[in-house]
Parts: sequence; C-alpha cells; structure tokens
Amino acid sequence: MKKVVIIGCGNVGMSYAYALLNQRTSLNELVLIDLDMERVKGEVMDLNHCLAFSPTHINIKEGKYSDCKDASIVMIAAGANQGPGETRMDLINKNSKIFKQIVGSVMESGFDGIFLIATNPLDVMTHLTWKYSGLPTNKIIGSGTTLDTARLRYLVGDKVNIGPKNVHAYVIGEHGDSEFVPWSNSTIGLQKIDTFLTEEEREEIYEEVKNAAYEIINRKGATYYGIGMCLVRITNAIFEDENAVMTVSTYDNENDIFIGLPSIVSKEGVERRIYLDLIKEEEHKLQNSVNVIKEALSEVEE
Ligand code: NAD
Repeated sequence: MKKVVIIGCGNVGMSYAYALLNQRTSLNELVLIDLDMERVKGEVMDLNHCLAFSPTHINIKEGKYSDCKDASIVMIAAGANQGPGETRMDLINKNSKIFKQIVGSVMESGFDGIFLIATNPLDVMTHLTWKYSGLPTNKIIGSGTTLDTARLRYLVGDKVNIGPKNVHAYVIGEHGDSEFVPWSNSTIGLQKIDTFLTEEEREEIYEEVKNAAYEIINRKGATYYGIGMCLVRITNAIFEDENAVMTVSTYDNENDIFIGLPSIVSKEGVERRIYLDLIKEEEHKLQNSVNVIKEALSEVEE
C-alpha cells in the first residue's frame, strides 16, 4: 500500500495534495495533519469531492501522528512562512523548534519510510529532519532546488521558444540566495546553452529564477503551485522506482550538510549523487552555498 502523510496543510501542503489528486499516481491513502484540525476537516471534505473526477482513487482522511507508522512518505510543509522582505534564513529559529516536535512525534509512531521536506530554510530543515529522526541519509529528501530548476527550464524554454522539458539545465546549491546555475553543463537538446543565450541573457534569467519567490510573495503572499508539482514529481519518482535525476536536497558527506545537487531518486529515496564536472568559478559558487548552509546550521545548533 502506498500512503502519504502531509504535515502542514497550508498553501504548500494542500497544493501538493491537490496536484496528487490531479495526476495518475499509485497513491492509495492520503492523511492530513495540521495544528488546525478544523481546517484539515474542511480540506478533507473538499479533496474528497474531487474523487468522482480524479484519475486515481485515494482514501483521504484527517489523521494523527500514529498514522505515520506505515506511511511510505511523510511530507512536511509545516511551519512559519516567508513574509514580504523576509529571507528563508529568517525562518530558521521558528521552524527548527516546530521540526523538533514534529519529527519526534513521527518517529514515535515507528515510521520507517521516506521524509520529504518542503519547509524553509529548506536545506537546514532537511538536515534537522535527519538529525531528529536518526534515519539513514537516503531516506531524507528535501525539495532542494527542484523548484528553482523548474523555473529555470521554463524561463530558458520561453526565451528560445523550445519546450522546457528539452532544457537540460539545473539550479544547484542552497535553496536560497546563494543558489546558482552551472551553465558550463547546460544544454538544449545536445547544443550548449551559450549557443542560444548570451552571457547577459543567462544572467538575467538566473536573477529572475533567484528572485522568483520574492516576486511572487510580493504579489500574492506565498508561492505554492510550483512546489506542489515538484513534490508530486519526487513522490512519483519514489513510488515508481524511477531512478530519476533531480536536484533534491541530499546529504553531502564531504561537508556534512544537505544541499541541492543532481541525485538519483528511487524507491530507496536518494540512491546516489551524479558526478559534477564544474569549472573553477562554479566550484567557488558551490563552496559559497556550502558555507551559507553551514553557517545557518551553526545558528541552530548553538
Ligand atoms: P502556510 O502558513 O500556508 O502553512 C503552514 C501550515 O503549517 C499551517 O497550516 C500551520 O497551521 C501548520 N503548522 C505550523 N506549525 C505546525 C505544527 N507544529 N504542526 C503541524 N502543523 C503546523 O505556509 P505555506 O505557504 O504552506 O509554506 C509552508 C513552508 O513551505 C514555508 O516554510 C515556506 O517557506 C515553504 N516553501 C518552500 C518552497 C520550496 O521550494 N521548498 C516553496 C514554497 C514555500
């Protein structure tokens, strides 16, 4: 049986739930948990009313932490949200306390599945999930820079009028201001991306990707559809044992942190990472991202 528990049924949690219902997945059971269980009751009713037209039949219910015991995936999107002008790192102290309680409660149930993390600051929350759960690193997956990569592919594709699925480019590093695009490894079809885009155009696209969350939050208060879709993409890669390459936040043993790097996602979680051949300048950018995450983690651990 394939079962997902969502903890945190706000914008992101419910966009994930709604995207799950709208795609053909092998999910059998969906359980919702939030501090606000009245809201959850309403969400369960609303989602159940989709079933007559959903491509998949899913048993959807409100739940308790004991429901995590036999879950395949526990997806956490609980926590304080990024307000206007607030960086993801500002959320660190609020959300680390919330995570200690949530992950502790999930583990008390006897959970032995895969954690999928969406809460910001993403790489820090993913790391804390690993620490608080005691599960092996392959079972801890952060959404990482999957959303940033999706934004990049859309923007590049739109600029050159080629479908985004044919843009083979990734955003890597911290899911935050130090993320970057290793353009030296990027292609459209088999052509190097710099044959399509000037350096100036590439820089403009990168800035737009990096600032997308701020731009959306300023206009509509939060971002959620994009991340909902990314989380379903990761969920399907796990359920279908796809060995799909995605820039999830994964354990980097050299630096003892979680960070967004191209990794292979299968039913085991993160199977392994893909080798990265970066030019010097990109290596510096990756090291900068590592340093940003390490510094943020040191704030939590103090
Ligand atoms: P939201 O405020 O709409 O929802 C958060 C939910 O968490 C609320 O329903 C709240 O009641 C619940 N919650 C808080 N503490 C809890 C606890 N202890 N136990 C159970 N539930 C609890 O926020 P949102 O817009 O859904 O964003 C959620 C998180 O996702 C934020 O940290 C946001 O920054 C992040 N986010 C990440 C990405 C990404 O790419 N990873 C993209 C968008 C948003």
